[in-house]
Amino acid sequence: MRLSQYFLPTLKETPSEAQIASHRLMLRAGMINQTTSGIYTWLPLGLKVLQKIENIVAEEQNRIGCHRVLMPTLQPASLWQESGRYEAYGKEMLRFKDRHDREMLYSPTNEEVITDIVRQYVKSYRALPQILYQIGWKFRDEIRPRFGVMRGREFFMKDGYSFDIDYEGAKASYEKIFQSYLTTFRRLGLTAIPVQADSGAIGGNLSHEFQIVAPTGESTIYYDEDYDQLSDQDMTLERLRNMYAAADEKHDPFQCPIPQERLKTARGIEVGHIFYFGTKYSKAMNLTVQGPKGELIIPEMGSYGIGVSRLVGAIIEASHDDNGIIWPDSVTPFHVGLISAKADDAQVEAAATALYQQLATRGFDVLYDDRSERIGVKFADMDLIGLPWQIVVGNKTIEHNTVELKNRRTGERQDLSIEACLTYLQKHIDV
Ligand code: ATP
Ligand code: MG
Repeated sequence: MRLSQYFLPTLKETPSEAQIASHRLMLRAGMINQTTSGIYTWLPLGLKVLQKIENIVAEEQNRIGCHRVLMPTLQPASLWQESGRYEAYGKEMLRFKDRHDREMLYSPTNEEVITDIVRQYVKSYRALPQILYQIGWKFRDEIRPRFGVMRGREFFMKDGYSFDIDYEGAKASYEKIFQSYLTTFRRLGLTAIPVQADSGAIGGNLSHEFQIVAPTGESTIYYDEDYDQLSDQDMTLERLRNMYAAADEKHDPFQCPIPQERLKTARGIEVGHIFYFGTKYSKAMNLTVQGPKGELIIPEMGSYGIGVSRLVGAIIEASHDDNGIIWPDSVTPFHVGLISAKADDAQVEAAATALYQQLATRGFDVLYDDRSERIGVKFADMDLIGLPWQIVVGNKTIEHNTVELKNRRTGERQDLSIEACLTYLQKHIDV
């Protein structure tokens, strides 16, 4: 992509309404624009990252045999009256009427719709277990939307739902998802700590939140210092079973099994939340299947959320410096940023354009800053938007056939021949 033709409205000034780094950087990097309180337009650069995260989340769900669906955002109140949540949900639910005066709502979550789907089609225990998920927009009329996409009113979430014939099955589904979440967050460049959680408005008794440690997190988490020693490979359900981590109200200082000197406290960003809630919805909504002996079974359910749009902010909170964002390779909006140091010099311009084409041929997604801007502006913008690799084409390219390659994370720079640079990138980037 040529930057001169792209839609990338970067800002020099720090927007005054943004209190935390990710919100500031997303606005400055031209990723999002606030349409109204807690509701955002995703601009091209932001949307690219959002979609990369969405794809990774979907791949990991598919890998463990979940099936993707897409449910409507607008739903009839009648389904929610069946479960009893239409009255219970409170002001976070946006309610309205259609032209026939029927009560409708914008979905904050989807247990009712998915239970309705399963009760229409699944009649026998043989069709279970089943885990269905979607990735879609939710609306919750948060009292205090803040921190940009971290706590929006409209937000993008992966929500999944498991259906099993008994508790053992439901527990197995829960554990499968638990393990898969660890992999998902790891692929996003994050280390998520799974903590015991309160089951909240949805209800239930087996529940974990996945928290990213960051000073700007809204939750307080308490955890065994052993977590800090765990490598990514150690983060398995087996290992974690005997370790302690809890969030907010779920942590009771008088019951805590961890000695004071080993207990750590940190702020956390909740990026995922899983629940087992038994037959709460299946019972209320008359979902039954026939068992092996013809008996009626009420399926056991769980629900599993990942905050896809919140993750964009959480990744930035976990990975930035004073100059801007530093994208993990797996979600970076472009693999490489290419800067022509002298756009007005025909020779430099031609060399940069040739390299741009060579990079594209090798499958790299490149953002080519071909603007006739001052070089300082180009460097600053490139650091701000956080692409992991930057290549500068300048006089040296003309004189010695070399380019400068910069690693955004370490700041390390090397002069390489064009061939060597291409080989180096092929070795370091998965396309
Ligand atoms: P929170 O405690 O942060 O309000 P929640 O417990 O109400 O979240 P869940 O119902 O567990 O949220 O939703 C699943 C996931 O969706 C959360 O773990 C979070 O990552 C994300 N999420 C929830 N509310 C928002 C929001 N207002 N904006 C962005 N993401 C959100
Ligand atoms: Mg939650």
